[in-house]
Amino acid sequence: MRSFTFYERFSRAFNDYPSLSKLIIISTVSGGGLIAYSEANASSDAYKAAPMDTGIKKKKVVVLGTGWAGTSFLKSLNNPSYDVQVISPRNYFAFTPLLPSVTCGTVEARSIVEPVRNIVRKKNVDVSFWEAECFKIDAQNKKVYCRSNQNTSVNGNKEFAVDYDYLVIAMGARPNTFNTPGVEENCHFLKEVEDAQRIRRTVIDSFEKASLPDLSDEERKRILHFVVVGGGPTGVEFAAELHDFVTEDLVKLYPMVKESVKITLLEAADHILNMFDQRITVFAEDKFQRDGIDVKLGSMVVKVTDKEISTKVRGNGETNSMPYGMVVWSTGIGTRPIVKDFMKQIGQTNRRALATDEWLRVEGCDNVYALGDCATINQRRVMEDIAAIFSKADKDNSGTLTVKEFQEVIKDICERYPQMELYLKNKKMGNIADMLKEAKGDVAKEAIELNIEEFKKALSEVDTQMKNLPATAQVLH
Ligand SMILES: Cc1cc2nc3c(=O)[nH]c(=O)nc-3n(C[C@H](O)[C@H](O)[C@H](O)COP(=O)(O)OP(=O)(O)OC[C@H]3O[C@@H](n4cnc5c(N)ncnc54)[C@H](O)[C@@H]3O)c2cc1C
Repeated sequence: MRSFTFYERFSRAFNDYPSLSKLIIISTVSGGGLIAYSEANASSDAYKAAPMDTGIKKKKVVVLGTGWAGTSFLKSLNNPSYDVQVISPRNYFAFTPLLPSVTCGTVEARSIVEPVRNIVRKKNVDVSFWEAECFKIDAQNKKVYCRSNQNTSVNGNKEFAVDYDYLVIAMGARPNTFNTPGVEENCHFLKEVEDAQRIRRTVIDSFEKASLPDLSDEERKRILHFVVVGGGPTGVEFAAELHDFVTEDLVKLYPMVKESVKITLLEAADHILNMFDQRITVFAEDKFQRDGIDVKLGSMVVKVTDKEISTKVRGNGETNSMPYGMVVWSTGIGTRPIVKDFMKQIGQTNRRALATDEWLRVEGCDNVYALGDCATINQRRVMEDIAAIFSKADKDNSGTLTVKEFQEVIKDICERYPQMELYLKNKKMGNIADMLKEAKGDVAKEAIELNIEEFKKALSEVDTQMKNLPATAQVLH
């Protein structure tokens, strides 16, 4: 028994459609060979010419996005029977886990990116890349509308439309501000390489500014007050990087202002890193306390102006304001407006992300797939399909199921319902016979024969293992 990656499942979804039956996608995500950022931006590869018309009309696959999801898909392509067009406002893949290190120069930006053209040029598949942002998806007419972010274009028109037969939406998400006033205008985000570079410049600028003569102590302290909003992995990692940067490097360069530096971490919940094991939370909170990072728990930011950040204390509702020099906002992700608009179009309202089935097909829409942070999988429950599973396994139509019969279909079942495999693992059951045996009682494994009711009982708890997958690169991997 083995687990199936998203890309294998995705590939199978394509294979379910005869017209795409030759597209084999296997999971080959890599952290990415790391090459120079300057090369990424100034990539001299000319746009690949549109595929030559050989008389055979290739199906068009359009991929939106070159992040973890889009790039993983592209890296997996190996069948030349498709005309693939990739559209993204950035012409490179970025290794996001190292972004916090770019903010302080521990890692250079150029080391965490790989040009898309470099990735696709090694493929024997027709892949064109358009550096543009998609601003509308028209699923009815199978078109996406795009806008180039270059200042000039051949015919002076920055907008263009691209037809597709199959669309892969991998546009990720945007930072979630919860519509808090002043956040967009006054805070830094940490989502893109440019964000990390901007933060780095702002930190250095703050130290230079604070070193100027004729500043009051109060003003110097304000400038060197760095506030991080959000005690999730990104916020915590950034606060830690910043602390190390300040204490190991900057205090040597700016000894005269070192007493004025302060780092504050604001978290609305009761603890930081609360999605992890409690021991990790405790360790991180203790470490930050020892390092002098002021962690304010239960503090919800309600407003940010150009010099002050206001919080409401959970519990007593008290509002406090504090002066700051730089705020980094890292409170999770929200839906991109274009994805929201598309969701409305296809009747997926009241959702945070595009709902797909377990084959990553967008629900309520033909030939559109979505993956990554912009999507969420609606995994079917075993119990919803229990009668169909039973009858598929009961090959001789005897009305009872033997272990042997069930074993013949278990691979398909585990592929379709990953919760089955998790259940066996968590229950420390070696194989499916153990699960059936538990339902049947004390009989020899070979003698197990279950009717539909007994079968239901055996599988009744499998769906408890269903989990919403977090929006992480790890999941995509
Ligand atoms: C600082 C940081 C650290 C992280 N650390 C980890 C970690 O350690 N482990 C982990 O598992 N996960 C980590 N993550 C989460 C991980 O990066 C995301 O889950 C992952 O990037 C999601 O991949 P994606 O392809 O869906 O979106 P993204 O990687 O965000 O890619 C989206 C792509 O879509 C493009 N795009 C955007 N708008 C449009 C448009 N209108 N038209 C066309 N293209 C568009 C973007 O330019 C981009 O190429 C981290 C995230 C951040 C920000």
